[in-house]
Amino acid sequence: MKIYDILLTIGNMFKLRPAKERNKITDGFLPTEEDLKGAKKYSRVMIFGVDGAGDYFSKCSVPNFDRIFGHGSRTFSALSQFPTISAQNWGSILHGLTFQSHKLTNEIAATMNFVRKDQPSIFRVCAESHPGSTYASIVNWYPINKGIVENKIEGLYKINAGELYKGPSDDEAVDRVACEQIISFIQDKDPRILYTHLDGPDEGGHSHGYGTPEYVASVQHADELVGKIYDAYVERGWGEDTLFILVTDHGHVCKKRKDGTTFGGHGGWTDSEKYVTIAVAGGLGDIIDGEMGQAGTLDVASIALYALGEKQPDVYESRVPKNVFSTLK
Ligand SMILES: [Zn+2]
Repeated sequence: MKIYDILLTIGNMFKLRPAKERNKITDGFLPTEEDLKGAKKYSRVMIFGVDGAGDYFSKCSVPNFDRIFGHGSRTFSALSQFPTISAQNWGSILHGLTFQSHKLTNEIAATMNFVRKDQPSIFRVCAESHPGSTYASIVNWYPINKGIVENKIEGLYKINAGELYKGPSDDEAVDRVACEQIISFIQDKDPRILYTHLDGPDEGGHSHGYGTPEYVASVQHADELVGKIYDAYVERGWGEDTLFILVTDHGHVCKKRKDGTTFGGHGGWTDSEKYVTIAVAGGLGDIIDGEMGQAGTLDVASIALYALGEKQPDVYESRVPKNVFSTLK
C-alpha cells in the first residue's frame, strides 16, 4: 500500500481527503511525451489576466473578446481557487498548483520574493528548457512581479505599470500604461510567453459591485485594451502562431449600503465570485470551437505549456481541460 493510499484510507475514516484529491476539480489531460509530439507547437503564448472580471465576459457586450475568442474554446464557469482572492489565483495560474500547495496570499506576494525551486512558474519551466528566449510579465498589480513570478529568470522582463504611471489614482489609467508597455515591448522583442494583468474590473467591482453599470464599463474598458494588444500581435504577423488565453481570477459580489449605493468584494464562494472565464484562441487549426471542459484557474498553466510543446513539471496539479485542443484525445 502506498503512502497516498494509506492517507486516503485514514482520510475516508474521518471523512477527510488528502489535499490532492480534495482539490482535483478537473478531468482534463496530463499530456504524455507522445501527446507533446502531436502538439501543433505555437511560437508564443499571450495571456490576458483580467482581475475581478469573473464570468462577466459572457454577460455584457465585449466585441473584442468576441472577435478574438468567438470561435475559440471558452468557459464562463471555470472555478476560482478558494478563497476567491487575487494572489491565490494568479499563483495558481502561473505555477499550475492549487492554493493549498503554493499558499500564496496577497500579503505574502506583496512582501516576499517567490523562492521555491520545486514549484516553478511557467516562465521558469520554459526559460530553463529554451535558453535565449524572451519572456515578459507586464502588470498593473505589483505583487505578481514581486512575490509570484520568480526573480532572475533568464530572458524575463518584469514591468510594473503602476510604478510607471504618475497621475492621480486611477486603475484604468494604469491598465492603459500596461497596454502601451506591451505594444512597445513587442515592437522589438518576441516574447515566448507574455503575461499581462489588468486590474480595472477589480476596482470597478470593489467600488460599485458586480453587475452595476460601472462594473460593466470596467469590463468593457479591459476588453478594449485586450483588442488593442491583440491587434498589435496581428500587425507583427503573429496572429496565427500565437496562442491567446484570457483568464479572470475571481468575480465580485454586489452589496447595498443603507443609502442605496452599492459596493463589491470577493473571497467567498458565491456564484458571482467563484465562476471565472477561461478562453483560448489560436490560428494553427487545433483549437476546438465551443465550450471547454471542466476547468480551474490553475489549468491555464497546462494550456500554455502544452501549446508551446513543453512538458509540465510533475509537481503541477493542473491539467489541459477537455475540448480545448483537437490534438489531445
Ligand atoms: Zn483579483
